[in-house]
Amino acid sequence: MLTQRLVLTGDEAHDLPLIQQAAAIIRAGGLVAFPTETVYGLGADALNSEAVRRIFLAKGRPAWDPLIVHVDEPEAIRRYTRDYSVLTEQLIRAFMPGPLTLVLPKRALISEVVTAGRDTVAIRIPQHPVARALIRHSGTPIAAPSANKFGRPSPTTADHVLHDLNGEIEAVLDAGQTPMGVESTILDMTTQPPTLLRPGGVPKEAIEAVIGEVRLLRDSFAENEPLPAPGLSARHYAPKAKVVLCAPEPEQFYDTIRDALERYAFVGAMRPAGWHVPIAPRVRVFEWGDWGDWHTLAHRLFLGLRTLEREQVHAIVCPLPPEEGLARAVRDRLQRAAHE
Ligand code: AMP
Ligand code: MG
Repeated sequence: MLTQRLVLTGDEAHDLPLIQQAAAIIRAGGLVAFPTETVYGLGADALNSEAVRRIFLAKGRPAWDPLIVHVDEPEAIRRYTRDYSVLTEQLIRAFMPGPLTLVLPKRALISEVVTAGRDTVAIRIPQHPVARALIRHSGTPIAAPSANKFGRPSPTTADHVLHDLNGEIEAVLDAGQTPMGVESTILDMTTQPPTLLRPGGVPKEAIEAVIGEVRLLRDSFAENEPLPAPGLSARHYAPKAKVVLCAPEPEQFYDTIRDALERYAFVGAMRPAGWHVPIAPRVRVFEWGDWGDWHTLAHRLFLGLRTLEREQVHAIVCPLPPEEGLARAVRDRLQRAAHE
């Protein structure tokens, strides 16, 4: 199969026919990768089980790992879910469109292939104008996981998508780098209080300011108990190089790189602005951004991991962000990328 790259320019007269072409592919049961405000998604018609099955095949994603359904208005959330509570309404008003996904009891219309046989569905309204236009012109909800091979860093550019999926999908809508760079926050609304399944673009603190207490997934289980949520495998988002985390201090960063040079031939460094790295021909540096500027660090996280991977380093040293605000999402991705 030839994967078409449909390059958008932001000019409506130029872009509209390309979005319509992509929408026709979705309606015909095909696969289209498209930009959202978080990362690129791999979309198929969520009401067409055969089309959704193809997502799992293209990604190499296990069938037990459910997908997020993307819609373009709150009314569509009502159409595909049940037991819409006051809290759900408040969250929709505060954060949608935007990088917040809610897990709600599903209606029968949504294919069990999408939800991996569960009676709940994860649903969100993306903010990116291209994602919204694609959903609207397709006239159907779009099931979309991130457009990478299973377990790899999420794609934030069309090049990343093609690196992983060229020849396996019909098209990619190319609108440049995605703004947020980390995936949506996932909140399970079927528990009381709601449970944060995955930190993401909307910080836990912002959600709590609207609906009160939110439970962390790990608070509800004993240390050694396996977590019940699907798709939250400890290892994920991983480049081919080993990710080595260090405390977020310039001296620790420097020392960790120096130690890594004793064990690995080529070492990559995700460098916060102004932090020193050992001068050595075997060090490759990715200029990450100002430490504490979480928007920039999130935006450039997966780009950095994929860029250093392409430079064939054996290890990537990276300082670990704190557990707060948007930093919590960056921290979560790095911990999974570093997991054995
Ligand atoms: P991705 O689209 O690749 O970012 O992954 C979507 C993730 O959403 C899955 O890996 C699950 O962790 C989560 N998810 C999707 N649907 C459900 C659901 N019905 N219940 C709980 N978690 C879900
Ligand atoms: Mg993913």
